[in-house]
Amino acid sequence: MRPNATPYDGNWTYWATRKGQAIGTPTRIAKLLKKQKGKCKWCGQYFTPSDVIEVHHIVPRCLGGKDVYNNLQLLHHHTRDDKTALD
Ligand SMILES: [Zn+2]
Repeated sequence: MRPNATPYDGNWTYWATRKGQAIGTPTRIAKLLKKQKGKCKWCGQYFTPSDVIEVHHIVPRCLGGKDVYNNLQLLHHHTRDDKTALD
């Protein structure tokens, strides 16, 4: 057997960002992490394993936004006030 670095060493955001997958991480989140190079679309900071990550629809589903990768982005769990400031 070849020695392998274990993909799960607690730093799942690192692995998901690097490989687009990580054990225990939903595929959708891992793929989006890779696409976004591990950074939040709102504040530009890197996600860390202890962060609460939200999958956010760019075009809201109520406005016809589709549940596809092109319409999804990952954000930290920013407060409602933060999000209001976007508008
Ligand atoms: Zn953020």
